[in-house]
Amino acid sequence: MAFEGLTERLQKAMEKLRRKPKVTEEDLRETMREIRMALLEADVNFKVVKDFVKTVRQKAAGAEVLKGLNPAQQIVKIVDEQLTELMGQEAVPLNKADHIPTVIMMVGLQGAGKTTTAGKLAKRLKEEQHARPLFIAADVYRPAAITQLQQVADSIDVPVFQKGTDENPVQIVKEGLAKAHEDKNDYVIIDTAGRLQIDETLMNELAQIKELAHPDEILLVVDAMTGQNAVNTAQGFDDKLDITGVVLTKLDGDTRGGAAMSIRAVTGKPIKFVGEGEKMSDLDVFHPDRMASRILG
Ligand code: GDP
Repeated sequence: MAFEGLTERLQKAMEKLRRKPKVTEEDLRETMREIRMALLEADVNFKVVKDFVKTVRQKAAGAEVLKGLNPAQQIVKIVDEQLTELMGQEAVPLNKADHIPTVIMMVGLQGAGKTTTAGKLAKRLKEEQHARPLFIAADVYRPAAITQLQQVADSIDVPVFQKGTDENPVQIVKEGLAKAHEDKNDYVIIDTAGRLQIDETLMNELAQIKELAHPDEILLVVDAMTGQNAVNTAQGFDDKLDITGVVLTKLDGDTRGGAAMSIRAVTGKPIKFVGEGEKMSDLDVFHPDRMASRILG
């Protein structure tokens, strides 16, 4: 289960504090040490952990929790609030253009869940807004990628604009957008190519697609299971493309949680959705406060 180790450790630290008849400065320091260790072990970015612990300590001192009636409970509250803030405070909705179509560009490394997430998103838009999305198949490097997008699209009854693997992706996107205008689609979701790791050629191609398509939303899809690598990937994509949001996939797995807690702080970009399974319905809006409660258990 996601966050299992972290939740357990945080709960233990809090429990220990709760059992004290009187909480001293030293107890507080010890709790902070335990929180720090728990976060580091959950693969949260080192600097993020340092800032987090510092802020919690300052808030606890500012609120004079040791003088209050129930110090342990107050510390739990501060940690909860800080976790929420760390992950972005509020849910951030998808950007929407003031004219159709809204263009969403999906980017990410191979295997992160881009194509699956594109499908989940289209399904959601159809259900919530009665939208008529069009997919553009811009991954021309793996024939299987187009077949997979087609299968996903068929399962949710969404059309795909594709030109096989022989044409240049930028040209495909150009033609796909023209088709969307012609058919008055209100959303266009571009499924782009991924690689096993960030490389210059891929980034240049994505930058060209961005320049042509002027996407309203560039959603980076990252695999929560990859921990700090997910954070580095996010940083790399953001440096080059100035992404507008992140989708964290595979949160149904046993991720330790580092990516969920570090991405916003490191990149400044919001996590907008989380993937919690392989089915088309397994996509949820990311709510920082609910995630904080889930982490605290
Ligand atoms: P892409 O290469 O980035 O397009 O990745 P795919 O969409 O092909 O996904 C790679 C694999 O991850 C597939 O087997 C998906 O079913 C799986 N996957 C995607 N999102 C999730 C998720 O949220 N949870 C789980 N458990 N699997 C996922």
